Amino acid sequence: MIAKGGSMKKITALVSILLFSWTSNAEHSWADYHWARTTSSFDLIIINSTTGDWDDYVTQATGDWSASLVLNMVEDTSGSTAKKVRRQCKSPEGKIRICNLAYGQTGWLGIAGISIDANGHIITGYTKLNDTYFSTSYYNNANWKQSVTCQELGHNVGLGHQDENFNNTSLDSCMDYQDPPTPIPNTHDYEQLETIYGSHIDSYDSYTAGSGGGGDGGVCNAPPGKGCNKAGANNDVGWGMSLGRRGNAETFVRIDHNGIRHLTHVTWAIGH
Ligand SMILES: [Zn+2]
Ligand SMILES: [Zn+2]
Repeated sequence: MIAKGGSMKKITALVSILLFSWTSNAEHSWADYHWARTTSSFDLIIINSTTGDWDDYVTQATGDWSASLVLNMVEDTSGSTAKKVRRQCKSPEGKIRICNLAYGQTGWLGIAGISIDANGHIITGYTKLNDTYFSTSYYNNANWKQSVTCQELGHNVGLGHQDENFNNTSLDSCMDYQDPPTPIPNTHDYEQLETIYGSHIDSYDSYTAGSGGGGDGGVCNAPPGKGCNKAGANNDVGWGMSLGRRGNAETFVRIDHNGIRHLTHVTWAIGH
C-alpha cells in the first residue's frame, strides 16, 4: 500500500514472514517481538504522559502487568503532559511512553507502536489513547479505558490478542476482544509472557537507553492514506504499509533508513 520504492522487496519479504508466524502461532505473542534482556526479569519504564483523568488506569495497568514473573512495568509519573509531547508521544530509547489526547476523528481508539532493531528486539515504543472517542458516551467508562490501556501496554511488551471475536465467550482478558471488554490480564497472558521471555536470555539489554538504533515512531496521527500517512508523504513518520486487518485490529510496518522497523498496532473504533 505505502512503501519507499527501494524498500519494497524487503518489505514484501517481511510481510510474508510476519503473516506466516502470526497465523501459524496458536499462542498469542506479537510475532515473537520482545525486549532484549540479560536477566530473567527486567524493569521496563513506562513514562506516563497522560493527563490526570488517565493516571489511575495507567497505574492499574502497569501494576497488573508487573505481576508477571518476567517483567515489571515501572511507571515514571514525571512524564510531560505538554500537548506537543502527547501529540507526538515519542519515547526515548529503551522506554515506553503512554499518552492521551483528542487526536481527532482518526478512526482509531488506541495505538501501540514498537520499534524493532536488526536482531528483532523492541528498542522503544509508545501507546496513544484517543480521547476523541473516549469522550463519547459509549467509550467513556472505566471498563473501556482500563481495557484499552491494558491491551496496548500488553502489545508494547510483545503480546498479541488472545481472541478477535467480539461475539463469543469472554476469556476474561484485556487481550481478548469483548464488548464490554475485560479490564485486566488473565493467567494465560502471564503464561504467554513467560513463554516469550522465559525461552532465552539475550546478550544485551534493549530496555536501557543507548543500546543502539533509535526510535522515531509515533509522530503520525493521521488515518491511513491521509496527511502524514499518505503515500509519498514524509516516510520518516508515517505508519508504512498494512500487514493486514483482522476485525478491528490492524498492523502497519515501516522500515527507516537505519534498518529499524517501526510497527504500529491500531485498534480501530468500530461503529459507535
Ligand atoms: Zn531475544
Ligand atoms: Zn490490540
